[in-house]
Amino acid sequence: MRIKATRESIQLASSIIRKGGLVAFPTETVYGLGADALNPRAAAKIFEVKRRPTFDPLIVHIAEIEWLEKITRNIDKRVFKLIEKFWPGPLTLVLFKSPIVPDIVTAGLDTVAIRMPSHPAALELIKLSQTPIAAPSANLFGHLSPTTAEHVEKQLGEKTDLILDAGKCPVGVESTVLSLVGEKPVLLRHGGLPLEEIEKVIGKVARKSKRKKIQSPGQLARHYSPKTPLKIIKSSDQIPHNENIGILLFQKPAVKINAQAVEILSENGDLREAAANLFSALYRLDESGVKIIYAEPVPEFGLGQAIMDRLRRASRTR
Ligand code: AMP
Ligand code: MG
Repeated sequence: MRIKATRESIQLASSIIRKGGLVAFPTETVYGLGADALNPRAAAKIFEVKRRPTFDPLIVHIAEIEWLEKITRNIDKRVFKLIEKFWPGPLTLVLFKSPIVPDIVTAGLDTVAIRMPSHPAALELIKLSQTPIAAPSANLFGHLSPTTAEHVEKQLGEKTDLILDAGKCPVGVESTVLSLVGEKPVLLRHGGLPLEEIEKVIGKVARKSKRKKIQSPGQLARHYSPKTPLKIIKSSDQIPHNENIGILLFQKPAVKINAQAVEILSENGDLREAAANLFSALYRLDESGVKIIYAEPVPEFGLGQAIMDRLRRASRTR
């Protein structure tokens, strides 16, 4: 059932979480599929419903800072600096876990990914549930992330106990994932908080090494994908003249483009607006019945890094 997020519906949602059920809820990044993070049976349902492999750990969402020390250990100065500046917000930190976090949530790792979302409905739900909420994106594994409650309904519909609807997610791409378990901070996934912002606070951040085993599903080659094949072109002049194609443009083109479906991420070329529109645009292209999607690249700084990361993964063949 999909219902508007109100005080009453969030209250109902929190009682579902406390009883071990599944609630899809809005965050500022994308919609999450949430369960009580301290209840292994509830967390197991997330993997089942998403058809997510159990080697792929979940992000634990908190609304009160006290929970940080309950579910992690050995946190240092860098953590406090970052959370002071960026929480609540689209930054997930990977830290050593405390024993109360069930293995299923962390895929057996000794670390846990944690974040405090800024969406008021998410914060309210977590507070009322009185427990941290484990929540990956509310989509089937590997598919497009949902940025509206309708996206969730289409992919997971009856499989969740409740979908809280608060309209479109303002950031529109998943959180940035940063590991702080080693001496050097390591970026595991580009996301809604640009890397440059993080580096201003804690200095140089390393990129994850390509050879190491996968620590983050955002690291899988093909992920965040539409069903339709997607190809990244160098510029809009390279678009073939063909009826049966869909086109994803960063900004308004200089000349009119003929294609079955055209999506413009941001008329004026604003990266923040482009990120917020990315997944909805890909959903519409997917549903337009085109045979292939041609995507124009976006400038690769700020949120452009997260957008290009998602487009590259979508462009790899299954
Ligand atoms: P999702 O919520 O589905 O968008 O994905 C959650 C992201 O956080 C994935 O990229 C996870 O692999 C990553 N993540 C969660 N827990 C850990 C962890 N303990 N170590 C590394 N990455 C993690
Ligand atoms: Mg996901």
